[in-house]
Amino acid sequence: ACGGGREGTTEPTTSGDTSASAAAGGFAEDATIGVALPWLGTQNWKEAEVMFAEQLEAAGFTPLIQAADNKVPQQQQQIEAMIEQGAEVIVVGPVDGTQLGSVLEKAHDAGIEVLGYDRLIENTTAIDGVVQFGSIRTGELQGQSLLEGLEATGPGPYNIELFGGGPADPNAPNFFTGAMSVLQPKIDDGTLVVVSGQTEFTQVATPDWDNAKAQARMDSLLSGNYSDKKIHGVLSPNDGIARAILTSAKQAGMELPVVTGLDAENESIISIAAGEQYSTVAKPTDALVAKTVELIQVLQSGEALPETEDTANNGKVDVNIYQLDPVVVTKDNAAEVFANDPDRLALLEG
Ligand code: BGC
Repeated sequence: ACGGGREGTTEPTTSGDTSASAAAGGFAEDATIGVALPWLGTQNWKEAEVMFAEQLEAAGFTPLIQAADNKVPQQQQQIEAMIEQGAEVIVVGPVDGTQLGSVLEKAHDAGIEVLGYDRLIENTTAIDGVVQFGSIRTGELQGQSLLEGLEATGPGPYNIELFGGGPADPNAPNFFTGAMSVLQPKIDDGTLVVVSGQTEFTQVATPDWDNAKAQARMDSLLSGNYSDKKIHGVLSPNDGIARAILTSAKQAGMELPVVTGLDAENESIISIAAGEQYSTVAKPTDALVAKTVELIQVLQSGEALPETEDTANNGKVDVNIYQLDPVVVTKDNAAEVFANDPDRLALLEG
């Protein structure tokens, strides 16, 4: 009810410290930690909701976790409430990377630390770091995997189509940029043919990461361009969209193309094991949440976050990226990649 965000702390205050972003002084061991997730529409975000609760509690913190159903005003209100409830740190996976500047500046002014989770927060100085699987790197892996999957089917040239993720999510253009850094030279030399001609991110993006919209686009790509041709491959930015693409191809009675993915979702592991989806990229949620909690503990102890080698310019500042490595998964290496993940292993074995 005091609304300030700092009043609840039992730690001694550092006298003379007025800096908004200062970690000096740390905060109480049972401090409230806000986690603002964009939606629960894909498995990774559902896992994040559960794992943040578990891991923050295990570390002694008081978690305050909200998901925003992909709606910007809802996420802004949820963050406002976290400020009012005295959160010491707010972790954010933004619905829209560019729409949180003013509410997060308010958080910063109240002395609250702000961490981006999985997605970058753009156009604001009110961000103290982002924890993610490098999104350009993720896209490169998707592009390489598409190419490898195609080469394994026989000699080219190969007919392909490209899909991107939700345009408001800063990861989506990065995934696409990373993938195109691998694919564009092969388009230029004629190895890959994008039959529809749609190669710009704005042409291939999937609004709101909505699988149904991707499926509708694939339906029209197939009926408009492939009545007399085979489609050999499709770049997909995540697993939900990959399965929508495969469903569309099945319904059109086409031989299934090589399709990439992201997230190692349960349904896609089953599809990969069945020889349908070609690949996914694993970015384990438990590791990403653990990394975030580790940073929160650094702040809790009153230290500043470490500087990182990799930074991302968010339009206003260079943001430290606390980065984990994503891994490509195909039928061939899945058992190896998931050797320490009994749930996913069980799915492979059927
Ligand atoms: C995440 C992906 C997820 C997508 C849609 C992206 O920001 O990195 O893991 O599939 O959002 O929810």
